[in-house]
Amino acid sequence: MASVSAVPTKKISGGSFLLEDRQPNEVFTPEDFNEQHHLIAQTAEDFANNEILPNAAKLEHKDWALARELLKKASDLGLTSVDIPEAYGGAEMDKVSSCIIADRISKYAGFAVSWGGHTGIGTLPIVFFGTEEQKKKYLPRLGSGETIGAYALSESSSGSDALNCRARAELAPGGKHYILNGEKMWITNAGFADLFTVFAKVGDKFTAFLVEKSVPGFSIGAEEHKMGIRGSSTCPLILNDCKVPVENVLGEIGKGHVIAFNILNVGRFKLGAMCVGGARVSLQHAIGYAKQRKAFGKSIADFGMIQEKIAEMAVGIFTGEAMVYRTVGMMDAALSDIDKASTDASREIRKSIEEYAVECSILKVWGSEMLDHAVDEVVQIFGGYGFVEEYPAERAYRDSRVNRIFEGTNEINRMIITGWLLKRAMSGQLPLLPAIKRLMDEVLAGPSSADPLEGALAAERTIVANAKKLALFTAGAASQKYMQALADQQEVMGALADIIIQTYAMECCVLRARKMVEQNGESASSLPVAFAQVCLSDGMQKIEAAARKVIAAVAEGDMLRTQLAILRRLGKYDPVDTIALRRKIAGRVQEAGKYVAI
Ligand SMILES: Cc1cc2nc3c(=O)[nH]c(=O)nc-3n(C[C@H](O)[C@H](O)[C@H](O)COP(=O)(O)OP(=O)(O)OC[C@H]3O[C@@H](n4cnc5c(N)ncnc54)[C@H](O)[C@@H]3O)c2cc1C
Repeated sequence: MASVSAVPTKKISGGSFLLEDRQPNEVFTPEDFNEQHHLIAQTAEDFANNEILPNAAKLEHKDWALARELLKKASDLGLTSVDIPEAYGGAEMDKVSSCIIADRISKYAGFAVSWGGHTGIGTLPIVFFGTEEQKKKYLPRLGSGETIGAYALSESSSGSDALNCRARAELAPGGKHYILNGEKMWITNAGFADLFTVFAKVGDKFTAFLVEKSVPGFSIGAEEHKMGIRGSSTCPLILNDCKVPVENVLGEIGKGHVIAFNILNVGRFKLGAMCVGGARVSLQHAIGYAKQRKAFGKSIADFGMIQEKIAEMAVGIFTGEAMVYRTVGMMDAALSDIDKASTDASREIRKSIEEYAVECSILKVWGSEMLDHAVDEVVQIFGGYGFVEEYPAERAYRDSRVNRIFEGTNEINRMIITGWLLKRAMSGQLPLLPAIKRLMDEVLAGPSSADPLEGALAAERTIVANAKKLALFTAGAASQKYMQALADQQEVMGALADIIIQTYAMECCVLRARKMVEQNGESASSLPVAFAQVCLSDGMQKIEAAARKVIAAVAEGDMLRTQLAILRRLGKYDPVDTIALRRKIAGRVQEAGKYVAI
């Protein structure tokens, strides 16, 4: 068996997956977890099972003293300070560990959102942008769970359009305080948090402030009555001549947008991890129920259409894990060179994460849609019991829905995915334009006589290579037609994002399966190979539909026919028997009683 290097250290550019071919030893996968990763996974899993789940009903009834107590207990186990530097009392672990905790803690979404609000958007603005004094003052207590953090960007009239906020900050006479006026809306943890990163405009300069709950003029509105994640607190904030010391300006006046957008990148990759964790739990519920529920004289787990749903969920989890850990593995490789003791360390860390902004948005969109599909199918598997509160399917279904709305809606993230890549292409940071030009020459020259790929999953690798070409081809055709005005063609931007998202998902899945084949041999890897084959079959159908939509919008007549012929050539793949593959996958996970990768 070929040896596989465990932890990739090569620095890889964000978005380059569309242009470059990767080998299994260049990607991090869950199979590369080291002892510390397994330990942190077990700690988080035990905490979720022993402390969170038994308390879920109380949290659903908004017992915020209990939520605080649990966050404190999580801190005592090192589950909240993973992203805080050691110099400020944090555990300062790698991003893989950070995602493992997000993934495992999400067994109950209500608490996972409180945890994410505190450790992510509630704490990281200070980690990345705080002054030395601010870090010393706040980070040790945030890490230890004595102070709970929250992040207040949205307002009733501006969520996606957050820079258009109405909250205002004015320097008070004497120059020692800013006076903040306005409101903030839908703020996670607001009901029990102590410290808020609040965005307001100084004149027209969008700025972030650290606002302690106790300052004069600051108050919290009533809890929202939400569709889901009822075990998390969501309230408006009222800023009524709220007096904030000047030393609590976070970052620079007028640079609030840099904070707002950077923090969301972290929120997005962690949300992707949480969605994978949520799907794993839902699948376990579905399997447990399907095995014991009888209809027509047998267990419903024996019906093909139920097996199909169970298999689909398992494929989603395997692929989601591959996407999340490949992405954070790239971040960790990029972060490994940074001198953590240097004064520039926070800026360097933040920039290294920002490099993967497109992958973060992909994880957010793909993960939230995968989970939504999974929880919907779990309701279906539970039948009538899926629709009543006493069974777990109902709450998971409601809890999942918000993931497509916060951390940037999926529409906004789709615009980011395509827009970010095109911007990088235009600025020359990513050699997308030469790649499109080469591809156009190649496809117009007709079918290639290149030697077919060989080895494990050779057909699947060819499909992924062609999916990348389709992404470039459609992006090239759309750019040619609309030039700079492409961003105004939202449906085209969205369809291009769908092609890009599916391409990343498929490649991550195939690379992970290949790595497992290399590690364990082909006969022991038939499950990951089946995951990859089903993932590709589903993915290519979606890519083809999105590519057709783009081409039909940008071309007509002979040009349309030529482009459709190219699409047929690049999108060609031999169908696999996904019915047999899904039965095999369902059989294996049903036998295990839960999701397994091998
Ligand atoms: C439970 C919960 C917790 C939250 N926690 C926080 C928090 O802790 N801190 C915080 O600051 N915010 C928080 N939010 C707010 C959340 O981030 C916003 O709701 C979200 O960004 C969407 O903004 P909006 O609600 O104003 O919708 P809008 O921006 O009005 O969007 C409405 C619809 O229009 C679409 N749309 C908007 N602009 C565009 C565009 N340019 N192109 C295409 N479509 C567009 C959107 O995708 C959406 O479908 C939370 C929300 C919820 C529900």
